[in-house]
Amino acid sequence: MFEVFYHPIYTYGIDKSSRFPRERYQLTRKYLENKTSNIIFKKPNMINIKDIYLTHDKKFVDSFFKGSLTIKEKRKIGLQPWNKHITNRTRYILGGSIEAMQSAVTKHNIAGNMAGGTHHAHYSFGSGYCIFNDIAICAVKSLRDYDKINNVLIIDLDVHQGDGTASILKNYQNTFTFSMHCEKNFPLIKMKSDIDVPLPGGIKDDDYLEILINNIDILRNIKFDLILFQAGVDILINDSLGYLDISREGIKKRNEIILKFAKEKKVPMVVFMGGGYSKPIEHSVKAFSDLFLQCSHYSKFFI
Ligand SMILES: [Zn+2]
Repeated sequence: MFEVFYHPIYTYGIDKSSRFPRERYQLTRKYLENKTSNIIFKKPNMINIKDIYLTHDKKFVDSFFKGSLTIKEKRKIGLQPWNKHITNRTRYILGGSIEAMQSAVTKHNIAGNMAGGTHHAHYSFGSGYCIFNDIAICAVKSLRDYDKINNVLIIDLDVHQGDGTASILKNYQNTFTFSMHCEKNFPLIKMKSDIDVPLPGGIKDDDYLEILINNIDILRNIKFDLILFQAGVDILINDSLGYLDISREGIKKRNEIILKFAKEKKVPMVVFMGGGYSKPIEHSVKAFSDLFLQCSHYSKFFI
């Protein structure tokens, strides 16, 4: 079984007038309705704020929840205007990521959050639609809570570099960050992951998949007991922000490569939704739905 964490607040926690395509969460959830009996949708609980302190500056965390971030700090995050649900939305999304990690590690080997992958959030500031970094929190918490997790691999295939994750986890010996992204996309100043693969704009399926396969070969030699997969679909040719030209089929092949890799290594994997900003949003929704359906299919064969 494949557990996916989802809460309607993922959508209504963003203001209607925000430029962010908030409908993508509820549309993906709706699209998957009745598509497979193998997906179990679960409502997450809110994260315990102490878990956010694991990888973030307490002062920054408390300012956010007290509503005292400066206009500049809020603007760097985006998603504006913020409505009254923004703090609970943040806690539910982080809760969904943590519970997906717990589900993958203790029960099903693969689980996902239909949101999250907030890889631009740094230790003491948010950025690029990301407030706190759920990937970093899951990495550190899984290492702390489970004896069987000694090394965590982060595979970030969003079109944007996982700069916040790289920067937060750089001092952790037992995490390995891999980011394959478009060199022309945000952030302007990239951080240093353990492996970065910057791609030129306009790259298409064949070249993209060949580069990915070559890098997965390198990752085969690294020790890890958990994969955190940021599966952003903003590499799609129709995306309004991403500069890569990958087809819907190409993204399915990409997902297949990562799923096969996790299965071959016999390690649990957590899937985070990441970016997707096509206009109309339906292209991104279909690509996200493909991803979750592929995961549910693979869950049958996991270990
Ligand atoms: Zn992105």
